[in-house]
Amino acid sequence: MTDHSPAVVGGSEAAESSAVAELQAQLLGWYATAWRRLPWRGAGGSGAADPYAVLVSECMLQLTRAAAVVDYYQRWMLRWPTLVALANATEADVLAQWTGLGYYNRARNLHATAKAVVARHGGVLPSEPAALAALPGVGPYTVGALRSIAFAQAAALVDGNVARVYCRLFARTDDWSTAGGKKGLWQLAEALAHAPVAGQQPSAWSQALMELGATVCRPRAPSCEMCPVAGACRALASGKVQTLPVRSKRRPPQPCSARYAFVARGRPEGLELLLGRRPTGGRWGGLWEPPGTEGATASARLVAWMDDVGLTAGETLAPLVHTLTHRRYTVVVVVAQAVDTIDVSVEVDGAFDAIGRFSPTASTAPAAPAVPADLLDSLSALGYTAARWCSPDAALSSTGGLSRLGQRIVDQAVAHLRVQPVPRVPGGSEAVALVGGGPPATSR
Ligand code: SF4
Repeated sequence: MTDHSPAVVGGSEAAESSAVAELQAQLLGWYATAWRRLPWRGAGGSGAADPYAVLVSECMLQLTRAAAVVDYYQRWMLRWPTLVALANATEADVLAQWTGLGYYNRARNLHATAKAVVARHGGVLPSEPAALAALPGVGPYTVGALRSIAFAQAAALVDGNVARVYCRLFARTDDWSTAGGKKGLWQLAEALAHAPVAGQQPSAWSQALMELGATVCRPRAPSCEMCPVAGACRALASGKVQTLPVRSKRRPPQPCSARYAFVARGRPEGLELLLGRRPTGGRWGGLWEPPGTEGATASARLVAWMDDVGLTAGETLAPLVHTLTHRRYTVVVVVAQAVDTIDVSVEVDGAFDAIGRFSPTASTAPAAPAVPADLLDSLSALGYTAARWCSPDAALSSTGGLSRLGQRIVDQAVAHLRVQPVPRVPGGSEAVALVGGGPPATSR
């Protein structure tokens, strides 16, 4: 063990080394057969041969379960099989591909890292700790993961799973989310990563720790009866499994209200909805959603915007509750209607204007006009940087670029419109769907 290492187990130096070696051998022996077959793992549970693949998988796995990552990872690697390919992608494509995984800064940082590696290192991910730590969004955990899994260096890592395992295994009663608690855990992790047994198999050691935390030493109901290191576990011996790790109580998410408008245009078989793109950098930055706003004045601001573009609020849908780590949104969606909406049968000649209003006197076919400048301008008053019309299917697809909240809003509104009776005119056939009217013909 290196000089900077604290005592891990305690006792004489010989007893300490022997206990640590036994602990590591037990955990590595377990991982050799218990590792899950996941697409980013190589033979025997080793890390992928390609450091870029390790980088992608580790970014996706932060705060997300492995089972939820598999499909995203496979689609991502098919689309951008190399770091250079990712560097050449647009941010919009990157965010769209990430849609549904959440915590979108991970996608932006991964994209920025690809560009930085191309610019600084000729497209080859560096293996030196300082060069890795200088990449966008690459923190101590990712440095440790890349060094140990991709480059077979004896390097420590601590994520939520590893922290939980260490806190229980060594009965650590300090709060690991504090600066002092984190420092102590990292020192422990360094000591173990450099100990001889783990130091000879850095990739397996890092992955074994995380695998134990994910599959056996779970947050609630850990399977101590099948744990390979149960014999050394101090929390188990002292009856503290359920009380460790210690974490200070988080503040509950702050309540926040938001109001959105579902604006649709076109015929039932080709309904399109209006989307705005949020500015990059903030919450859900760069992602798309129906027009909306949040805060105490959300309702008034949305009504003012609707007035500006000739819309009025139709039905109000049941509130959606959308919870993030620090905020709990109550989201109200109104189905927008054109102020001068008229019901007409499909036999009437005419055309739709840019926001779906039908003019029975025009002679052109109801095409799908581009978003006009004044509507785009009006959306920018709500903070959006771009606007587009989009079918519900395209919006909800994996490349639609909607935020998770945007997906929920569109899902709710589309489901609502589907159960609405189709507007009919006396003696006429199926009515033309105007803004806010008629169900889309699309199915999902
Ligand atoms: S014995 Fe239980 S608490 Fe201890 S490390 Fe194993 S699973 Fe976790």
